[in-house]
This record gives sequence, C-alpha cells and structure tokens, in this order.
Amino acid sequence: MHTKTIKQLSALLHSKQISATELATLFLARMQSSDLNAYTHIDEALTLEQAAAADRRLASGDSTALTGVPIAHKDIFVTRGWRSTAGSRMLANYNSPFDATVVEQFNAAGMVTLGKLNCDEFAMGSSNENSFFGPVKNPWDTRAVPGGSSGGSAAAIAAGLAPAATATDTGGSIRQPASHCGVTGIKPTYGRVSRFGMIAFASSLDQGGPIARTAEDCALLLNAMAGFDPRDSTSVERAPEDFSRDLNNSLAGLKIGVPREYFGPGLAPDVEQAVRAALKEYEKLGATLVDISLPKTELSIPVYYVIAPAEASSNLSRFDGVRYGHRASQYSDLSDMYKKTRSEGFGEEVKRRILVGAYVLSHGYYDAYYLQAQKIRRLIAQDFQQAFTQCDVIMGPVSPTVAWDLGDKADDPVANYLADIFTLSTSLAGLPGMSIPCGFGQGEKNARRPVGLQLIGNYFSEAKLLNIAHQYQGVTDWHQRRPEGV
Ligand code: GLN
Repeated sequence: MHTKTIKQLSALLHSKQISATELATLFLARMQSSDLNAYTHIDEALTLEQAAAADRRLASGDSTALTGVPIAHKDIFVTRGWRSTAGSRMLANYNSPFDATVVEQFNAAGMVTLGKLNCDEFAMGSSNENSFFGPVKNPWDTRAVPGGSSGGSAAAIAAGLAPAATATDTGGSIRQPASHCGVTGIKPTYGRVSRFGMIAFASSLDQGGPIARTAEDCALLLNAMAGFDPRDSTSVERAPEDFSRDLNNSLAGLKIGVPREYFGPGLAPDVEQAVRAALKEYEKLGATLVDISLPKTELSIPVYYVIAPAEASSNLSRFDGVRYGHRASQYSDLSDMYKKTRSEGFGEEVKRRILVGAYVLSHGYYDAYYLQAQKIRRLIAQDFQQAFTQCDVIMGPVSPTVAWDLGDKADDPVANYLADIFTLSTSLAGLPGMSIPCGFGQGEKNARRPVGLQLIGNYFSEAKLLNIAHQYQGVTDWHQRRPEGV
C-alpha cells in the first residue's frame, strides 16, 4: 500500500477498498519506525482527525480526487497544529496561527496531513545537512545525503513514508533531492504557486511545488496547489488549468534542446551515461535532439550566490527575538539581545549567507556585486529565450554526480554550491523544471544511487513538461524501482 501512487490510492479510497483512516494509520506506523529522520514533527491525533473528516467526505460523495490521500509538508510551509520550524533552532518551537495557502488548498481538497518534513535550515543547502534537526538519510543508501534542501520530502516519497509531499525550490531544492532519491518533482514557473505562508528565503526565486512518484501524480497535486493568491504580490493571475490534460499527448516531432554546457568535464561519466540513455529513449518516442548552448551557465553560481544571500539577509532580519521565535535567555540590553538571539538561533550556513548578503548590499559594494548580478540574471533568462526558439524543451542532468556521502562536503560550502550548477539558472530565469528518475550510478558505491533527468520548459509550460515526463514513465520503469526493504 505504501508504494502505491496517488492515482491508485484515490481509486482505492473512492471504491471504499480502504479508508482514509486506515491509510493514515498505515503511514503513521511506517513513519514512527523509520530511522531516516525525514520528519520533524508528527502528531498522530491531528492526522487521524483529518482522516476521519476525509472519510466523512468520501461517504457523503462530496470528495475530490485527492480526498483521503495522505500528504506531508516541507517544514517551510506554515501549518496550524504542526510546528513550523524551517529546520532552524530559531523556530524550533514555533506554532503558526495560520496555514500557508498551499496547505489550505490541500486541506480544502481533503488531503490528510501526515506531518512536517525535514529540510535544510531556511531551505539553504544541497544535502539536508544544514538542518537543526540533523541530516536526513537517503533511503537508497543510508550513507548518502538525500539532497537538499527538500531532503525530507524526497526521502519520504522514496521510502514509502508518504505518497505525496510539498517542497520548495529556490535554486534546485525540488529537482536535486528528487534526483538523488529517485522520485519525481516539479518546480513550477515562478508565481504559479502561492508563497503566502512559505517561510521566505529568497523571495524573487522561491517557488513551491510537489514531489511524488510519478509525473501523473505531480499533475494531480499541482492542480490543487497552483493558482492566483491575492496575499502573494508576485502570484500570477491566470485562468485555472488542468495539468493532467496533456499527459497522453504523443511526443512525435518534439524538439529537445541538449545544452552543450550541461555535458562538460564536470559531469560524472555515470550520470552522463544515464542521461544520454534517457535522451535515446525520447528519440524512440519520436523526439529529435537539437544541440543548443546556454553560454552563461557557469555564471549562474556566482550570480545566485549573490542574489539569494542578499534577499535572505533582508528576509531573515525579522528574526530578532521580539516578534517570534527564539530569544536568548540572558542579555544586557536590546542590541545584546539581538546579537545573542541571532547567534544562538541561526546555524553556520544561514549566518554565512546573512553576512554575504549584507556585504553585497552595502554601500560601495551594491553596484559592484548586487547590481552586476541582477544584470547577468537578465542575460541568463535571455539565453533560455534564445534556446526556446530552437527547441520545445531542454534536457540534461539535474546534478553533476549522484548523491555523495553524508559529511563529504559538510565543511566545504563552495563544494556544495558548485553542485547546483545545472539547477540555478532555471530558478534565476523563473522557468519551470522537473526531475524524473532515469537510472543509477555505476561502480560498487554508486550502483544504488539514482540519477535524475532534468526537463526545463518555457514559462507556464508545466502541462507540457508533465506530458513529456509521463510519456517517458510509460515506457521505462525507473520511477517504479524501490530502495531495498521498501
Ligand atoms: N542549494 C541551493 C542553496 O543552497 C538551493 C536551495 C534551494 O533551492 N532552496 O541555496
């Protein structure tokens, strides 16, 4: 039962072969006996209350496709009832008085919340090792990182600890953990999904999206998750869409852009092989490959690591020990209270970003760093528009390597930043991107570590991306593989 897709669970719930309560109970038991550290907070009573309500809705016939299906939320979305921590000591005991819009939408659809999912502190990281609650282990190989920052979300799906999860992507945090854990995730176009109640990291980049087993499931989740929200000033006002509508379209004639810069010397040979094999599979489905160039790819790392910290330093100034969150217990005066509160409340990586952000925004450096980065950000977006005159979708690796060992890059922030090379530019341009499982690494160590294929589309082309992913999942079984014991 725990490895079924949302689509399958929905059918079982609607035909009364299982109840929402039975399903929630089954997942809660698995969650409680798991040692992956994927969850930060579980509250059995709250979950069962929602499940009972879902059962009443199912009985009355007033249900949606998602009613009774369990979901877990990245602990960056605020939730009433469950603690909302952002993986930080600063918010370790924080109870939100309201639900994020995304959480409200899933509640309204009748989904049952299983709990909150571990993540890097304030979503800053690529390995989930920056969480105050400790790292998440990769279910495929518990020596490996699950990726980040949505490591809990991806690991929970892979390990059968939830059939659906929310996640957020600021520079790759949906796609990269999905890739490392062999699951399917989509980062929608910037503005598609409300950021209201999504604890802010870098507001011009942050975007929520789903992680699940299949593209078809992601479409179902996105149907509930996307939409205009007047409470988010960057939310895009567009007519509602059915993201499942194009799933079965043929790919004959599809033009796939293959960016040269994504296949350079930094790409591990085993990842390259799996990605190239996936491209061959697409050719069999009727697509043609087009050689394209995204010349500013390399610049995405310095640009992102100026812009994201700049926005983070501003967003995180609200954690001052006065309004909410942690407050130092002893201090001499107000500024001492600020200093101690923030020194104690934030972890190393968050402090590093605040320092960098404050620096690049300061008088004398603003023009040299921040403004310059903004200009190159525009050029990166233009590269994509140029590419989309030659192709319908862009494909390449998500990550230059399979998941690395826990601890391997823990003391080397720059090594972590470099691993984001293939995901950052999509975020900087605000484009939608997906990761779908397409194979495994090679050699004794990597043979059980998944590889993800990245799909990048033009603005608002999510339905097409999901179609392209779904067609691949119809002829391959990488998305059905399970870690040992799951
Ligand atoms: N790894 C990137 C970072 O550390 C991206 C994180 C994210 O997308 N939230 O900022």
